[in-house]
Parts: sequence; structure tokens; C-alpha cells
Amino acid sequence: MKLVVASGKGGTGKTTVAANLAYALARSREVVTVDCDVEAPNLHLFFPSMAHELPARVPVPAVDPARCTLCGECGRFCRFGAISVLKTEVFFLPDLCHSCGGCRYVCPENAVRDEYRTVGSVRCARPSPSLTLIGGVLGEGEVQAPAVVRYAKRLAEGAPLIIYDAPPGIGCTVIETLKGADACLLVTESTPFGAHDLALAAEVARQLELPTGVVINRSDGDDRAIRQICRELGLPVLMTIPFDRSIATIQNRGGLISREHDGWRSRFAALFADACGLGGRA
Ligand code: SF4
Ligand code: SF4
Repeated sequence: MKLVVASGKGGTGKTTVAANLAYALARSREVVTVDCDVEAPNLHLFFPSMAHELPARVPVPAVDPARCTLCGECGRFCRFGAISVLKTEVFFLPDLCHSCGGCRYVCPENAVRDEYRTVGSVRCARPSPSLTLIGGVLGEGEVQAPAVVRYAKRLAEGAPLIIYDAPPGIGCTVIETLKGADACLLVTESTPFGAHDLALAAEVARQLELPTGVVINRSDGDDRAIRQICRELGLPVLMTIPFDRSIATIQNRGGLISREHDGWRSRFAALFADACGLGGRA
């Protein structure tokens, strides 16, 4: 089962929900989490532990001038404008390269080979015998965040249960996170902004044909607007977390309600079962 926890906007408590799910499920089974919020990763803060760091490297083209005839095929192919064929040389802008490999494929002279560029890193930790944390970190000054997400996701491949903590919003990194998942939980809050951004995120999930459910966080008891939108979009509300002083106190000191309250642990386990029901997976 590959479950993404996402939200249309930042600050809804998405990472807290992902961490609570991971903790609750890791009590009884092997769980791998992937923090795909590579520009501001913070899932690991809930599980302090020693981490092992690996470079996140992506292939980029290197042109052999001895073979290149400056035919221009690679420049015409690259839709990202990362490679331009000038009069005397091939000019490459690594920040624009999406590592698709197309320029190597179309080169008639076999003049393009792959070389590797480090665009960030991936932290791996094992805070408990049944919980593995993998977290992508975009390198300083780098822009290819989706490449780091891809790299971090690849390290988790093969695990039977993976929980992805998506970046907020609906950008490329979110889409990269959602690709290949079985189901998605959208975390929202009962405010007009929450409702607006929930609708945007739900549309992205719909386009990717991902079964989706909703978690309402910090509910003040009046969720009519959010529930109305969920009804219109055909999204089931799977959990409501109240705006409650005792919950806020736990979370403000970096705690988890599923760790400190048995009741919440079983509620998060039930949330996972409902999410599996959305995707038809166990
Ligand atoms: S396609 Fe190959 S031969 Fe043509 S300009 Fe690009 S690198 Fe050179
Ligand atoms: S690998 Fe793809 S994105 Fe990068 S320069 Fe070549 S064609 Fe452009």
C-alpha cells in the first residue's frame, strides 16, 4: 500500500497526520515513510534518531565535442530549454534539465553520455525496529526538487507499506509524490482558505485517478462548508481532529497524539483501514 498524505496549502497539519499514522501503524507492522517535502522536510522531527545521509544524484547530459557535429537535434528536442546548439558549441543549463535522457536518445552521432550531478541528499533513519524514515533534502541553490522526490521514493520501493508526506500545494513536487500511489488523504482545516485549497488539491488527485479521502484538522465543530465541498466532490471525510487545547499542547512540544493516547492510536489505525478501502488495498 502506498498512501500519500497531502494538502492544498501549508499549515494544515499534514505532516502531523502522516507522523501519527506512521507511529500508530508501526506498532504492529513494518512502515516506511518518505518525506517528499524536500524544501522544508520536518517529518523526522517527530522521531528523533541518528540519520545516514546519501547524495541524491541525477543524470545530466555531457556532450563529447569530438563526436558532435552541431546538428541541433538535441536542442530541438529539449522542451525545457536546457540545451542549446550554438555555432561553435552545445550550451547546457543544468538547472533547467529534467534528466529525461531525450537528448542522448535523439543524438545521431552518439555524442551525448550521462554524467551525474548532486542536487540534494536523502536522510535515512530507523527510529524503531519497524519504522524507517526516508527524507529528501533539496540542495542549497538547487531547483530540481522533483528529482530529489523521485530519488527518495526510489529508495523506499519494494516496501509493503509506504506513507508519503507530500509537500503542500499542487506543484510539480506534489504531482511527483502522488505518481504511483494507491490512495491519497487530503488534510484540510475548516476555514475558507482550507476549503478553496482542498478543492484544488482534490482536482489534482482526480486527474491522477487517485482514490482520495479527507481529514479535517483543528475542527472548531462547524465544518459545514468543508463537508459541503466534500459532498460535491464525492470525497469521504475519514477523520475529524478537534481544535482542542490538550491536542495542541501535545503537538506544540513535538509530541504525537497517537503516541500519547491509546484512543487516538486506534483511530489512526482505523483511518489507515479506511484509506485502504478507498484504494481497494490492504
Ligand atoms: S544531437 Fe548530438 S551531434 Fe547533434 S548537436 Fe546535439 S550533441 Fe551534437
Ligand atoms: S536530459 Fe532531457 S531535459 Fe535534460 S537536456 Fe536532455 S533533453 Fe533536455
